[in-house]
This record gives sequence, structure tokens and C-alpha cells, in this order.
Amino acid sequence: MRHFLIPAALLLALAGCKQRDPAALERFRRQFVFKVLALNPVNATMAGYHQHQEAALDELWPDYSPTGIQKQRDFYREQKSRLKAFDRASFTAADNADLDLVASQIAVGEFELDTQQTFRHNPVSYVETVGNGLFTLYSTGSASKEKRYSAIVARLRALPAFLNTAADNLQDSNPVWTRVAREENQGNIELVDKTMRDEAPPSMRAQYDEVAAAALASLRSFDDRIASLKSTGDGGWRSGAERYRRKFALVLGGGVTPEELLAGAEAALKATRRKMFDLALPLHHKLYPAHRDPVDLNLIVGEVLDRIALQHSTEQSYFADARQTLEEARQFIARSGQIPMPKRDSVSIIETPVFMRGVYGVGGFSPAPVLEPATGAFYWLTPLPADWPKEKKESKLREYNRYGLRLLTLHEAIPGHYLQAEWANDIQPESRRVLRGVMGSGVYIEGWAVYATETALDAGYMDHSPELRLTFLKQQLRAIANAILDIKLQTTAFTEAEALDLMLNRTFQERSEAEAKLQRAQLDSCQLPTYFAGYREFVRLRDKVKARQGARFQPVEFHRRVLEAGPLPMATLDQYLAGTPADAPER
Ligand SMILES: [Zn+2]
Repeated sequence: MRHFLIPAALLLALAGCKQRDPAALERFRRQFVFKVLALNPVNATMAGYHQHQEAALDELWPDYSPTGIQKQRDFYREQKSRLKAFDRASFTAADNADLDLVASQIAVGEFELDTQQTFRHNPVSYVETVGNGLFTLYSTGSASKEKRYSAIVARLRALPAFLNTAADNLQDSNPVWTRVAREENQGNIELVDKTMRDEAPPSMRAQYDEVAAAALASLRSFDDRIASLKSTGDGGWRSGAERYRRKFALVLGGGVTPEELLAGAEAALKATRRKMFDLALPLHHKLYPAHRDPVDLNLIVGEVLDRIALQHSTEQSYFADARQTLEEARQFIARSGQIPMPKRDSVSIIETPVFMRGVYGVGGFSPAPVLEPATGAFYWLTPLPADWPKEKKESKLREYNRYGLRLLTLHEAIPGHYLQAEWANDIQPESRRVLRGVMGSGVYIEGWAVYATETALDAGYMDHSPELRLTFLKQQLRAIANAILDIKLQTTAFTEAEALDLMLNRTFQERSEAEAKLQRAQLDSCQLPTYFAGYREFVRLRDKVKARQGARFQPVEFHRRVLEAGPLPMATLDQYLAGTPADAPER
């Protein structure tokens, strides 16, 4: 016994600095997530976090002054050392997943502050912060209109100071970022000058007009500042191979390199085109009996896709048809028993807010704030702009045809983003919910939406329709092309012409869509690969768990567990599933 006791005591002494108390971990997690939100009050508003100690967050902007930037650096450094104090071995798999997520959040924060430095080089980031900070208050939240407008007035009053700091910080830009920043800044001017002014409660109108005058003047002079920024040249938006590799590891979770993902995407591109050809050939015989089959894959698949596209809504029925697809998806998923439905059912389909239509030209999903999960979620559908020429409207209706519209609903709502977000909004305790909901992995989120759509098709949605499958594969090609585009555009001298060739001639995209995608690829990096990378990871994880569990494997149980875990980085999710009892190998 003596022999045992002495080393044990020694061990305890040595481990004196190691933290094993679950209550300490909960305190750490809480202070971490709420401090991160407090550092970016615009994100806090979106998460439904309104008050941090004495600060009314809805009235504030992020602090990008030199002092504010230093505070952020100090915060991350301090958190990093606190994180090291936890004795990983004595915590549960779920707690360890949280510690991983905190570590990755710190790494992302430090990368931004020290390497990427968006605040010095990208005017778009400020413009979008302004838009989100005002628009979120204007459009959503559980508070009364008066309360929201009093926060809007406070943010408008603080806007000139925020934009002055932005103007001081910005050193340079490139033609793409400059153009988009100026366009979107114009949208902010309209939001302040027209939309929000028109809706101001009468009792607050005078106050609104007063702060709006100064805010508008500062938005206009910010436009001049953007226009005068030193240009880094036409390719100034490219990350370069080295910086891209670091960001890629942070965003994609480290398990895969850009080279591996690129090789995987190129192989998947070929395989998916082959699958489409095999599916299209019998349809082509039926639809074009007079044609002799040409050997050209693009022609056969293209002709079948053209014919499929003829089954579409009219401008008048577009919304009602979409509503119908939501109801169908809800009933099918509940009936098929492959993916568990959440307890709440709070999604409604609405028109995409006007100021979001530049980004969300087709549709999107807006979850309920993590801290106010009962306020409801929105599936945004962008209506056909009234001023579009007939031909352009037709082209969009053809793209979001009978099958395309259904796939959009599966992706954005059920079983995709809405269903996933609703499960994530049940995560307990609250600090874990905020951590995973606000700082969660985009790879998980987009990967789930693509994977779950395929799962619905595999389960027989629309009676195994080959037209639906072909349309889905066309969308898969788009996700694959997104990954290729991002990697090649950001890390090599890949030209616009080469990018358009990939989209138009190998993945069946329309020109207008391809041009919009190219712009998106130049605005940000490492987001476009998340769809393909996440999808691939979900398939891999499912197959791995299936192999481990053998005959005990049940899809619905696997899906319930990944949904309950919420948007963890995929490698963390893998470890978490392996480390929790329901998954232990049979003895
Ligand atoms: Zn999505």
C-alpha cells in the first residue's frame, strides 16, 4: 500500500495545476462563449445574446480600434492557457468535443488577427457588419418594435465612430472587393435612408431622423474611402498557397489537405458525370425517340436536363408550389423513419428579405437564435424580381423546376438545414448549445444538408424518380466544382476563363449562375469546399460506424446521434461517436 500511496500523492501534486472538475469546465465554457459574443456584438444580436455584464450589446459595434484588437489578442492568449489546464482524460467525450471546438475557435481567431487581417484589407467585411448589425435588429428578435428601434438608434449614433476606425484600419483592397463593398454600402444607405426610416415607430421618428443624418453622411464618406484604397491588383483577392493551406486546415478540420480534396473532387467529377450519363441514356431514348444517340455525354445529359426543366412552376404558382414541397418533405421524412424529426416544428417559408437577395438569389435558411429557439426559423425563398425580363424569369423557373425546387426544400429545410438546426437548438447545457450553434463547423452544416438530401432520395422520396436523381447529381456536380474552383482560384493562377469553362462545359451550369459563383469565389475562401468535403465526410463516417456496429447498425439511430451532437468539426464528431457508450463494440 505504501508503495502505491507515495506515487499517487506525488502524482496529485504534479497534477495540481490540472483541472478535473466538471463545474469548472462548465464555468470556462460559459465565460468563453459569452465573451466571444460580447467581442462581436453584431454576432451576439444574431445569436439572441443581448446583455453582457453592463454592456447592452444590441447598441454596440465590434471594436476594431488598436486597443480593441489588442484586447482580442489578449483574450485568445489567456483562453489558450486556461484550456491547457484541463485534464482531458478525466472528462466525457462530449466535454472533450467542446474543448476541441474552443481550441479551434481560438486558432481561427488568432489566424484572423495575426495572418489574414481582414480588418486591414477587406472593406466588404465592414460593410456587411454594418448591414447585419442593423438588419438583424430591424427584421428579427423577440423584442417589441420600440425596443428594437431604440437599439437601432443607438447603433446609428455609434456608426460614424465605427466607420472612422474602419477607414483608419483599411490599407488596401482589390478591384473585386472594392466593387462589391461599394455596391453593398449603397444597400446600407438605402436601408437607413428608406426602409428603416419608413418603418420607424411614429414616436421615435424625430430621434431616428436625427441620428440617420449623421450616419448617412458617414456611410457616404466611407464610400469615398473605399474608392480611394490602394489596389493590390486584379488577382489581389487570391490567398496564395501557403496562407490558404493554413486557413483550409482550420476551416476543414485538418484531416484533409487541399491536394487530397482536389484529387477527390476531380475523381468525383468524372464518376458523377458517368453516373449521369447512365441515368440519362434510357430517359433520352424515351424523350427523344427520333434522335440517334450521339456519343457525346454533354449532349445526351444536357438534352435530358433541358426536357426535365420544362416541368416548372409559373411565376404566380412558385411560392404555393414551394410551400407544397415543404409539406411533402415533412411528411415523407416522418414516414420514412430514416432521419428523426425534431420535437419542435417552427419553420415557415417566407420571401427572402430584400437586402439579402444579393447573396441569397435563390433561397436560404435562417435559424432561430440559439438563445431564443422558440422564436421560429425561416426558409427563405427569393421571389422572381418583378423587373426581370420574361426570358430571365423563365430561365430561373426552368432551373428551379419541379425537381430543382424539391431539392432546394430538402437542402434548406427538411431534412437539411432546418431539421439540423432544430436538433442543435435542443443541446444542453446552454453554454454547449451556444458553443456548437454559433461556433460550429460549416463543414458539418453544409455536409449534412447535402448528405441528408441524398439520404431522402435513397429512401425513396418521389418514388425513386430518375429525373429527381439526375437533377440531384447535377447539383452534386456544382458542389464538386465549388471545391475545385476554390482550391485552384485561391492557390494558383487559374483564370476566369478556365473557371467558367469548368462550370459551363463540365457541370451543366447556366452562364448567369456561373458568373455569380465566380464572384463569390473571389470574395471569400474555404467556404465553397465545405459542401463536397462535408458530404464526403458524412458518408465516410456513416460507413465507418456501420462497419463497427455490423448488424446492430440502424440509420435512424446514427442520424439521431450526429444531430444531437450538433455541428462539431467532423474529426471531433468521429472521436465523439467512438467515445460514447452507444457505439462501443459488442463484446
Ligand atoms: Zn446549405
